[in-house]
Amino acid sequence: MRRTLEILLSLVLLALAGHSALAAGVKAARLWPSPEYSRLAIEFDGAVTFKQFSLKNPERIVLDLEGVEPETILAEVAGKVAPQDLYIGAIRVARNRPGVTRIVVELKAEVRPQVFTLKPMGEYGHRLVMDLYPASLDTIEKQVENAIERAEKKIEARAEPGQPSLPGADAPGQAKVPQPDRAGKASPPEKPATTEKAGVVDKGEKSDKPARPEYQRLIIIAIDAGHGGEDPGAKGANGSREKDITLSIARRLKGIIDKTESMRAYLTRDGDYFLPLHERVSKARKVQADLFVSVHADAFIKPHARGSSVFALSEKGATSAAAKWLAKHENDADLIGGVNIAVKDIYLKQTLIDLSQTAQIADSLKLGKAVLEEIGDINQLHKPHVEQAGFAVLKAPDIPSILVETAFISNPEEEKRLNDEAYQDKMAQAIVNGIRRYFERNPPLARNKLAVTF
Ligand SMILES: [Zn+2]
Repeated sequence: MRRTLEILLSLVLLALAGHSALAAGVKAARLWPSPEYSRLAIEFDGAVTFKQFSLKNPERIVLDLEGVEPETILAEVAGKVAPQDLYIGAIRVARNRPGVTRIVVELKAEVRPQVFTLKPMGEYGHRLVMDLYPASLDTIEKQVENAIERAEKKIEARAEPGQPSLPGADAPGQAKVPQPDRAGKASPPEKPATTEKAGVVDKGEKSDKPARPEYQRLIIIAIDAGHGGEDPGAKGANGSREKDITLSIARRLKGIIDKTESMRAYLTRDGDYFLPLHERVSKARKVQADLFVSVHADAFIKPHARGSSVFALSEKGATSAAAKWLAKHENDADLIGGVNIAVKDIYLKQTLIDLSQTAQIADSLKLGKAVLEEIGDINQLHKPHVEQAGFAVLKAPDIPSILVETAFISNPEEEKRLNDEAYQDKMAQAIVNGIRRYFERNPPLARNKLAVTF
């Protein structure tokens, strides 16, 4: 009641001050630091208008929120800046003038800010989002390369005999993979040009051990932990969040894959932050992943629904109404997580060329079948075959991609299993067994002009 009176009073004051903007109350404020960008998300109970500008010496970004009071929730977010946040040093919140609250974000590094609003979606009300990306465009690419280099530092690579590699020359079979970020970068002169092409480190020396490759070359598996950050994914009756379970299983998957001879895993996200669906695909392509596995936990309105399922992309509509519903539900991740529409549109126009994905889908179905067979040994299957629908995250035109619904988080019994470390390990092992089985039946083709021995 008191709060209502306060709101009424501030409305009256606003009216008296001649402000046309409606007052918006702050419902929540969240900070999401991550290795890739930092996000500040403020949720309101109504639409909000704002002004944004930058100040120098020191570098700051200022947001002036109109019709907003510097409420406790906003003031509290200032105290939540993590010391390890790469981009935000501090946040200050104060009333700038009647009816205007000013948020000053002190920066630790040069950033590219993206500030945008989101309409109510899922459980969220109106949101104002500020994403701070590193100013240098290649930082993320560098991180990706460093991750791969770290993973492969023990691997020795050598150029295939009689196939001298030229900088920037792609093998015909790989021509469909655009590599603008890599191609644009000059290699150090003493470094063999092949090193970057295959995404492996060439130490320039050969192993003394006899080469007995399990596969012809290093296989890179992109593991995608579904959801993250602002997008919690599905929730269990006992409070589990899909985003936490997917990350935990993804990390276990990476652990097993990295211990597997001639395989290395790359995690599209390794923390609790939101990653747009197209970004997940694009990262997998940047590391030239051989396979893409997106890890999820299913949910249904009826709590008795149970079992694991595996999905592939469909070009011609979904294989069932349930698969169609699920794809729509998973694709909503971008709306809940919050994508800056302006940027997404540019991405769609520039890179989502409508390539035929028939070959990718055929391979994805084979992979899905192999994985489903293995999962069938550790959990009941929701459907005995791989289903298909228009999942945005499975749209890499050149990487066989599957989405694994590890179990139903909405089923209390399965929610318990999903939180069980032993089950998570078993699930991860089953997926890896399926991947190995897939490669036994479909050996990987030579990548570019490089063969790797171990
Ligand atoms: Zn999901």
